[in-house]
Amino acid sequence: MLKQLGELASKALDELNKVSGLKEIRTWQTRYLGKKSSLTQILRSLATLPAEERREIGARANEIKATFEIELARKKKTLEKAKIATLVKQEALDITLPGYSISPGRLHPTTQTVREICSVFGNMGFQVVEGPDVEWDYYNFEALNIPKSHPARDMFATLWVDFETENGDKPMLLRTHTSPAQIRVMERTPPPIRAVIPGRVYRYEATDATHEWMLYQIEGLAVDKHITMADLKGTLFEFTRRLFGDKRKVRFRCDYFPFVEPGVELAIDCTACDGAGCRLCGNTGWLEILGAGMVHPGVLRRVNIDPKTYTGFAFGMGVERISMLRYGIDDIRLFYSNDLRFLKQF
Ligand SMILES: [Zn+2]
Repeated sequence: MLKQLGELASKALDELNKVSGLKEIRTWQTRYLGKKSSLTQILRSLATLPAEERREIGARANEIKATFEIELARKKKTLEKAKIATLVKQEALDITLPGYSISPGRLHPTTQTVREICSVFGNMGFQVVEGPDVEWDYYNFEALNIPKSHPARDMFATLWVDFETENGDKPMLLRTHTSPAQIRVMERTPPPIRAVIPGRVYRYEATDATHEWMLYQIEGLAVDKHITMADLKGTLFEFTRRLFGDKRKVRFRCDYFPFVEPGVELAIDCTACDGAGCRLCGNTGWLEILGAGMVHPGVLRRVNIDPKTYTGFAFGMGVERISMLRYGIDDIRLFYSNDLRFLKQF
């Protein structure tokens, strides 16, 4: 019987060695350690053996049983490890590879410039106000001294909203400038008024390096007693100094806008060539920044502000143009073409 036990042990361990799956290992366990296995039968039949034989065979059988259990546990562990390794390989999950880092978002260059300009004027006592993008003809043109048939309407390539009144008028449009918001502010605020109005404006125009059909403007308005051209010049001089640095020269020249009288155009000496003349400034040495002027008395009268008591100045600038001059960007279309390689630089 001892010999039989020895053969059983070597056969079983040999088989266990060849087992390659967790399913097979359960079969092996049933075969060699289960209730019906030869080893269990032998252990059960010990009582029927003579005392001397019983001790010897009993010891050997228990020893073999212990070996089986140890080897079984070891094999199970090895197979489980192998199984995990295979799974990891199948799913190509390399847990040693560092994860992708999430890059934080940033503000669009236009948003940054809008906020910077508003903050400069905010520090000078101006409030930030917004107006609607879809406007009435009255606010966009009529109230600003541009009645129907006025030639100044040709300056604005207008996008009209497909909306008709009973008498066939089409009075609704996408605002062509932020100036209509001036009228809205004056209508609901008695002077003194100091406001800057940032927002989108729309033009029915072919796009090129300097033209976009949608762009941002910032409009400014100050109405009070005793406001003169000197206040306009002082405020805008301080603004350019804060935005472009205090070494810049500032130039005011006469210009025409229907809703101001007199009107001026403000330029700074070229940021690229310091006034010597280059491609950026078209060899003039100057860069136009904004248009401004004293609010036309007719505009004040229309919003029930007495032009004999109150005067005011207004100004307006294109935000993208300011960004382009400050960062040396040569194509306005880059701002809204959603190319992250461009946007990430700001
Ligand atoms: Zn220049």
